[in-house]
Amino acid sequence: MIVKHRAAIDGLVAYKPGRAPAAGRPQVKLSSNEMSFGPLPAVLDAISRAAATLNRYPDFHRVELTEALARRHDVDPSQVVVDNGSGALLQVLASVIASPGDEILHAWRAFESYPIVTAVSGATGVTVPLDDRHTHDLAAMAAAVTDRTRMVIVCNPNSPTGTVVSRDGLDRLLDALPEDVLLVLDEAYQDFVTDPGSPCGIDLARERPNVAVLRTFSKAYGLAGLRVGYCVTRPETAELIRKAIVGFSVSTLAQAGAPAALAPEAAAARESKKRHFHRIYG
Ligand SMILES: *Cc1c(COP(=O)(O)O)cnc(C)c1O
Repeated sequence: MIVKHRAAIDGLVAYKPGRAPAAGRPQVKLSSNEMSFGPLPAVLDAISRAAATLNRYPDFHRVELTEALARRHDVDPSQVVVDNGSGALLQVLASVIASPGDEILHAWRAFESYPIVTAVSGATGVTVPLDDRHTHDLAAMAAAVTDRTRMVIVCNPNSPTGTVVSRDGLDRLLDALPEDVLLVLDEAYQDFVTDPGSPCGIDLARERPNVAVLRTFSKAYGLAGLRVGYCVTRPETAELIRKAIVGFSVSTLAQAGAPAALAPEAAAARESKKRHFHRIYG
């Protein structure tokens, strides 16, 4: 016997996390793309200090972290929503944007969670295969837009293929999309992009009304266990997300550690680790 539930969930294969690292051995976990270096000392210090206040609820509005991110990206704090991972934000976005009968469009292969968040929202998933260079086929995605499309997801750089799309391609996709249909740019790996001509979603979000960018502290910041991700978008879209996210979902430790990772000294240390990472993994 199983309780009554949404049929869309039956079709899903449960998310398979990468294997847990064996104790005491240095690990490169390619399946989860974790940073193999530990957190910076300043981040650990901030987290330890905050640990003494765990009897209190965290700041419901995540003010300090939201303002720090707004300064970093030169946007208004009303355009930034922080949650416990960009994966959580994607799920909230899908749920506030799409209903059963609507379509969520994304490439395949792309990030594992897209079919899951689509099914959980109740919407129908429409997938467009990557091209023969394992890159998003943005023209084919534009052609797949229908009047039921509510959300398009582009993973840039793409996980798991590492390929990037062009600014031109994104502009053409946006031109094919009604201005009230959201394009989500999942930029979990944006900090690893070395090509200066590669598009930055946050610049695009400044120009277009229907772009939401997802970023995370899990990859380049090496803080996957802290669970912090954020969305940069128009204030109206940000407000939709804020209404639906779970209260207090960003812990006290996360709200203390993430701003420390954004400090200028942390940026320098992070850059040197990133260069090291690039040297090893190309
Ligand atoms: C790791 C990853 C995420 C999830 O990041 P969290 O902030 O840890 O939830 C989202 N998108 C892509 C493409 C990723 O690789």
